[in-house]
Amino acid sequence: MTTNVTAYAAPAAKAPLERTTVPRRAVGEHDVLIEIKYAGICHSDIHQARDGWGEGIFPMVPGHEIAGIVTETGSAVTKHAVGDRVGVGCFVDSCRECQYCRQGLQQYCERGMTATYNGRDKAGDPTYGGYSSHIVVDEDYTLRIPEGISLDVAAPLLCAGITLYSPLAHWKAGPGKKVAVVGLGGLGHMGVKIAHAMGAEVTVLSQSLRKQEDGRRLGADHYYATSDPATFEELAGSFDLIVSTVSAPLDFDAYLSLLKTDGALVNVGAPEDQVKLNLFSLIGGRRTLAGSAIGGIPETQEMLDFCAEHGLGAEIELIRADQINEAYERVVDSDVRYRFVIDAATL
Ligand SMILES: [Zn+2]
Ligand SMILES: [Zn+2]
Repeated sequence: MTTNVTAYAAPAAKAPLERTTVPRRAVGEHDVLIEIKYAGICHSDIHQARDGWGEGIFPMVPGHEIAGIVTETGSAVTKHAVGDRVGVGCFVDSCRECQYCRQGLQQYCERGMTATYNGRDKAGDPTYGGYSSHIVVDEDYTLRIPEGISLDVAAPLLCAGITLYSPLAHWKAGPGKKVAVVGLGGLGHMGVKIAHAMGAEVTVLSQSLRKQEDGRRLGADHYYATSDPATFEELAGSFDLIVSTVSAPLDFDAYLSLLKTDGALVNVGAPEDQVKLNLFSLIGGRRTLAGSAIGGIPETQEMLDFCAEHGLGAEIELIRADQINEAYERVVDSDVRYRFVIDAATL
């Protein structure tokens, strides 16, 4: 039997979000019922609520940075118990059978993962995200949030945190490695914290020096303005790894010139337009231009454990549910340091 729960939803594309109720499925034998405590606002929530990525499913309840407490478990649940602190990220299911699902890389599922919102579950019903009082999720797609992190600063780790952790881990950021993070926003600030905790020498490449003090406090060793052409001369051939979090189109040739031989430039921000590139920027120096999407369930758990061990959470601005529309405008204006988190008690 479904239950109706309180939520904030966009009733139609580009419409302001408003308070409403949405159905949650009955707790199945492998499901947990989660009382949501906090939900982060990710830039992609805004893209989707405003239908920037094409056909959205409305009403839409965004939110894929969810932290809460288990309040009920299905009869076959073994990983979680009532009272557990848990998180839910960008997907709530996948095929579970393909080569990627079997490797724990559910984000690259051959049949497509089931998005936490603006998706359809295996029964064909629309999924509703974290701007809500409760959510029902299969235990296999539910993460454990260790005691070392409070739930409000843990919520953004479920998208922003894993989006940066995964490429940093895959391309082996660590002691002796020089890592640059392009853009110091919701994603970039987690990149700086995580790369620093991994032991890498971290440089922020930002449009201006406006946030330099923050960048250094978060763990950056160096901070450069990309609006200054001297930056590209001074840093030529410097980095083992550059992770770009910006969605504005980059001058890829210029950024690739900052890599050492065998260096990689990895994009986690996605420009809407096609990009231009001179392949000699890759050939000379055997460089790699790559992309990376969130992380699978095992790696997301590894990231949460890593963050707890190193005392890392997101830098957040906690808001009430009735401030969501205002927060959306501020995210679009890059006026947040560094993530808005909705206090679900105010729904
Ligand atoms: Zn996100
Ligand atoms: Zn799969």
